[in-house]
Amino acid sequence: MKKQYDYLIIGSGLFGSVFAHEATKAGKKCLVIDKREHTGGNVYCENVEGINVHKYGAHIFHTNDKGLWDYVNQFVEFNHYINSPLSLSKGKLYNLPFNMNTFYQLWGTITPQEAKAKIEEQVAIYGVENPKNLEEQALNLVGKDIYDNFIKEYTEKQWGRKATELPAFIIKRLPVRFTFDNNYFNDTYQGIPIGGYNKLIEGLLNGIEVVTNTDYFSDRVKFNALADKIVYSGKIDEYFDYKLGVLEYRSLRFENEILDTDNFQGNAVVNYNDASYDFTRIIEHKHFEFGQQSKTVITKEYPQEWNPSNEAFYPINDAKNQALYEGYRELSLKEKNVIFGGRLSEYKYYDMHQVIAMALTRSKKELSND
Ligand code: UDP
Repeated sequence: MKKQYDYLIIGSGLFGSVFAHEATKAGKKCLVIDKREHTGGNVYCENVEGINVHKYGAHIFHTNDKGLWDYVNQFVEFNHYINSPLSLSKGKLYNLPFNMNTFYQLWGTITPQEAKAKIEEQVAIYGVENPKNLEEQALNLVGKDIYDNFIKEYTEKQWGRKATELPAFIIKRLPVRFTFDNNYFNDTYQGIPIGGYNKLIEGLLNGIEVVTNTDYFSDRVKFNALADKIVYSGKIDEYFDYKLGVLEYRSLRFENEILDTDNFQGNAVVNYNDASYDFTRIIEHKHFEFGQQSKTVITKEYPQEWNPSNEAFYPINDAKNQALYEGYRELSLKEKNVIFGGRLSEYKYYDMHQVIAMALTRSKKELSND
């Protein structure tokens, strides 16, 4: 018998919202549920003093894909924000990512040749043949000065483990440039939705039935009976009642402050490298949208061990957890009428554009199967 909905979509983050949008456009009836009191998953913004506060960590949209850029821009216009974080190390401010400005600030090198020579000299002294961990990988890529000033202490705070005990792949993508270019991302398109990410989610979910404060696991039998198919974007291990074991994450605690000043740090993102600070960075949200409010809101990010009562932010994709995930993935392939997708369901630290691309591909495949 035909059920009430074609799709029950569990989770209203980017994966669920894009899927719901595409399915609805194709004439399907969808119900979106979310256990939080709001939609949008981790891109949700809270308005504080007229400022969009990125409640679950800073989100900066970037992509090389023109089609994807046009896709998100149909729901909300994006501004021209370019992420250019700074790093405070031993009392001095430096530009990130590692570029000619950073090298000048660190060594006084003026030309790309001088900077390259400096890095090569350090890599020759400290580099190793086959890097086995994050520390060796960093020393191989950028040498000791950069590692000591910008990577070691930040990374150890972020992951709560020694850099020698962390996998190399975490910093495989560290950009190093020999131009005076502080743009953190290499992508062609970048920006923040004008008016905040909630507008993007509202646009995607426009006209679709959504129920918040509703936990799928509170009554699976009831929810399963509602729809022919399920789109699940929650934690994959939770879906399977943790029967193979618990996947580990790294979590964050956000400490927000409203300050009676119009400009606290002059930039949206300032990283705090030194171990003497417990937090890794301070986000000043108004700068994402060039805000002119009289007050400001800042957030300090404190990395934390994850436990089931706090938010799961960064998957720990080490060998042990990855093998466990593969086990769950095997189970998910056998699950009929359930589509798994998104960061928590695929145990992968996706950027926003990757999640949207994945949701578009999956929904296209699914909807063309009918
Ligand atoms: N990282 C670092 N120093 C910095 C910023 C980043 O060593 O100032 C390393 C750190 O290991 C971190 C990784 O690069 O986990 C990725 O950081 P990024 O800020 O790009 O990721 P995000 O946490 O914003 O997703």
